Amino acid sequence: MALSLILRGGTVYDGTGKAPVVADVAIENGRVAAIGRVEGPAAKQIDVSGLAVTPGFIDIHSHSDYTLLLDPRAVSAVHQGVTLEVIGNCGFGCGPIGNPQLAPQAIYGFDGSVPLTWKSLGGYLDRLSAAKPAVNVITLVPNGQLRLSTIGLSDRPANAGQLARMQDLLREGLSEGAIGYSTGLEYATEVGCGEEELTALASVAGKADGLYATHTRDRAAKALEAIEEGIRTGRNAGARTQVSHLVPRNTAGGVFERSIELVEKARAGGQDVRFDMHTRLYGTTMLHTMLPPWAGSAGKEAARANLRSKEARQRMRSYQSILSSVGDWNRVVLLDLPIMSEYSRRSLADIAKERGQDAYDAAYDIIEATLDLPRSPMVILLTYTEDQQQAVFRHPLCMPASDATTLAPDGPLGGAVFHGAYTWASWFWRFMVRQTKALTPEDAVHRMTGLPAAVLDLADRGVLRAGARADIAVFDPESFGERGTTFEPNLLASGMKHVVVNGVLTLNDGRLTGQRAGEVLRRKGAPLHF
Ligand SMILES: [Zn+2]
Repeated sequence: MALSLILRGGTVYDGTGKAPVVADVAIENGRVAAIGRVEGPAAKQIDVSGLAVTPGFIDIHSHSDYTLLLDPRAVSAVHQGVTLEVIGNCGFGCGPIGNPQLAPQAIYGFDGSVPLTWKSLGGYLDRLSAAKPAVNVITLVPNGQLRLSTIGLSDRPANAGQLARMQDLLREGLSEGAIGYSTGLEYATEVGCGEEELTALASVAGKADGLYATHTRDRAAKALEAIEEGIRTGRNAGARTQVSHLVPRNTAGGVFERSIELVEKARAGGQDVRFDMHTRLYGTTMLHTMLPPWAGSAGKEAARANLRSKEARQRMRSYQSILSSVGDWNRVVLLDLPIMSEYSRRSLADIAKERGQDAYDAAYDIIEATLDLPRSPMVILLTYTEDQQQAVFRHPLCMPASDATTLAPDGPLGGAVFHGAYTWASWFWRFMVRQTKALTPEDAVHRMTGLPAAVLDLADRGVLRAGARADIAVFDPESFGERGTTFEPNLLASGMKHVVVNGVLTLNDGRLTGQRAGEVLRRKGAPLHF
């Protein structure tokens, strides 16, 4: 039988961390047929000499659950060589749906244009499959939807009956193909979960040899206690554990180093635990999160009255918000504002100085002036230094990830912004390999391919060898990098030439082919088989 594709003469990194070899890669029936010196004929041959040929990149922490329904082309991801996304992270996701009115609270990018017509997580996976995503997808069962389906929006722990129902839903999700269970304990939907409840749920994942991926309870003031809780929960539940975006927002006073040491210590004690980290230097959130719930959540007019009251402002100042937890107003920077645009792209410290105020009053004034806009102004929190980024991404227990929704510059997602979407893998390569040389190319490839594939227990992906599924990225190692910036994030990465998903050419010479050959991968039984 003729080969469908031969990639000729590339520098082949197999994803295991081994040094590369110059070889041809032949593809047939969706799998790698041979690596080495390959004779034709083939339906298509591409000269890839001088280019890196690697397994397709795996985004182990993605939030594309809903956006892949809106635009299944996964444009920002494919242009970075991504061939597999793990969704259902941070307790967010598209199933199970017990209450379609509440469910959007735990869905990134929900806009209602694809109604939530399914009930089970399996029903969602069927719907996603029908949308024909361009990349492969694996899901976790998101705790936010388990809570919303049983308890609703409450900050109380589950009672015995509710917990049993949540465990049933989790079991059902795992039997329908999910790889594990995720939490997002900082979010309103999940703040009520006690450790006992979490352990009981993570145990369900543990029994099925599933993964427990946790966005911990506090990523600022009490971040270290929260990481300890996450690790302890995974251990007591007997579940393989992944601490989501491990490094806290406030890293002063040794917190950065200690957060990593906690994982190392657990690992040394025999626990199967790792972590992921998004590859941006900052977090993003809304300026309105400066307001304590009592001042901001009772509607716009109540918020306005509080913002105009001197006494209320005085009380607001004692509230520890995500923004104040950064501890330095120079590191809190406004994105583009539709009004008061003179403050766009400037820090709150800088704005306050110009206005002759402190940062709180400057922020409260801007919030008051923008209350009638449809969306709160966004801020970025410059939380990590480049030295810290190097240290974290060099760490052998770390997997880089987007922590974003896949987007596209045109189509229904054209106006959407999610920092990291266009830049995560391309930044990682440019920064860690080319600029700082903190990782060798083969090690950097391994972090995005063989390593996450092993964590996901995918035997025939994340590596290039005869018989493996043909998920392949081909790029120019000298020019692969991000073009998107903090203030202009929606630019496609440069340097990615060809991307093959399940043997199908999806990106050809830097252009989408229009083919969408991704599969929704469902785990069948334990241990994990696909
Ligand atoms: Zn998260």
